Amino acid sequence: MNNLVLYRKYRPKNFAEVVGQEHIKTTLANAVLNNRVGHAYLFIGPRGVGKTTLARIFARAVNCPKKTGAEPCNTCEVCEPFLNGTSLDLLEIDAASHTGVDNIRELIEHLQFAPSKAVYKVIIVDEVHMLSKGAFNALLKTLEEPPKHAIFILATTEINKVPATIVSRTQRFDFKKVSIADLTKLLQFVCADNAVEITPEALLELSAAADGSFRDGLSLLDQVINFASGRITEQLVEEVLGLTGIKTTADFLDLIIAGQSKEALDSIASLAHGGKDLYQFEKDFLEYLRKLLLVKVGARAEFGFSPEVLNRLKDQAGQFELPALMKTIGIFQKAESEMKWATIQSLPLEVAAVESSVFASDRNNQGLNLSVAKQSQSKEEIASSQQVGTRKDDKDQLAQIVSHWPQILDKIKDYNHSLISSLKLAVPVAIEGRELILNFPYKFHKDAIEARKNRIIVDQVIEEVTGIKLMVKPMLAKENGENKNNAMEAALKIMGGEVE
Ligand SMILES: [Zn+2]
Repeated sequence: MNNLVLYRKYRPKNFAEVVGQEHIKTTLANAVLNNRVGHAYLFIGPRGVGKTTLARIFARAVNCPKKTGAEPCNTCEVCEPFLNGTSLDLLEIDAASHTGVDNIRELIEHLQFAPSKAVYKVIIVDEVHMLSKGAFNALLKTLEEPPKHAIFILATTEINKVPATIVSRTQRFDFKKVSIADLTKLLQFVCADNAVEITPEALLELSAAADGSFRDGLSLLDQVINFASGRITEQLVEEVLGLTGIKTTADFLDLIIAGQSKEALDSIASLAHGGKDLYQFEKDFLEYLRKLLLVKVGARAEFGFSPEVLNRLKDQAGQFELPALMKTIGIFQKAESEMKWATIQSLPLEVAAVESSVFASDRNNQGLNLSVAKQSQSKEEIASSQQVGTRKDDKDQLAQIVSHWPQILDKIKDYNHSLISSLKLAVPVAIEGRELILNFPYKFHKDAIEARKNRIIVDQVIEEVTGIKLMVKPMLAKENGENKNNAMEAALKIMGGEVE
């Protein structure tokens, strides 16, 4: 309970002080201004986003005789008892602890009497979805014919558990999660107001951990302040809240991308050794992968990261192809549900780490993953591997050419635009000695590339893009039967390579 000190202290007392929920504030304030007040409202949304706060402000606003515009004065003989909870005209019940039909009957009886000082009697029912069936029925009867002087405000976090008959008799307002930007603003204000020094990174970390809830944000800040002696840093926030920290999470992903399963396991062991909650780490890591996915598909989202962390996230997103990322997310999602029941809690996480890094390392070996290591491979290294000329190098080079095929085609366009229509159907399937075998489905297209001047262009561009010096050898797919499966595989790879 101690952790709610700041939450109570900074609870907004009028519409203007409420951060976010703009559409709801405006509609409610207009209802007050135009004196068009309804009898039943339904506030839906996650916990801690301001449902009860706005309900209370609205309750005072409709009743205050001294309001300015739509804002209650908060000092008059109506407002004050509403604020300190002594008014007979404001009734708040928590349906979670008063689920029975008797509780609702009592409320309804109370409604028979006219308000004592206010214009309206306001009944706020929090967590309304918890009411029993009988209680809902009793409530429904009253909502069908509410007394003129009654306003019901029903709040819930789980709209799917509220009967449709109730929902249809109310004006519905959907509250959103609070944005990280709004949370940061609020937390910064509260820190300044209490002469608490906090770093921007710590503010961001707290705001992200609050997950869209004012109540959680302020209660987390309370916890951290209780521990802090001096400036609040990112490390302190992580320590107090048991977070593993974004750097640890990003480092762990680097190990997975690089296919370093041993190092990934070491990292899990050192987290466990340092007393970190591995389940929390798993959840943090999944959240990080989720953000990576959002970046990858270019979705608009709020990340709550510093510019450095955001750049790193983007960089990592660039090292994944979408299907590989989806697979990695799947692996760790499975681990998350297994961790809840596992006899050895770390085991599902360890299995996921090995599975995903082995998968990544396979992909790296196939040259499908445009990892930083591969991209930065210098021409000299490629040239020297060419001289060795083993089969494995041939495979590597083929994979490189396949993964760069879209860029190669793009470049050839600059030299000779008409070549593209033929080359588009070509699939690089094998390297034999100094020759790159290109499979064509039709003779016409094969012949077009066969012309010496055209082959030279293709050779030249392949070298320009990949640094690999080869001579192309166009072949008809039919003549080259044993390479048919390879061709299909390579074609799929090219298609996969275009997902960017
Ligand atoms: Zn007032």
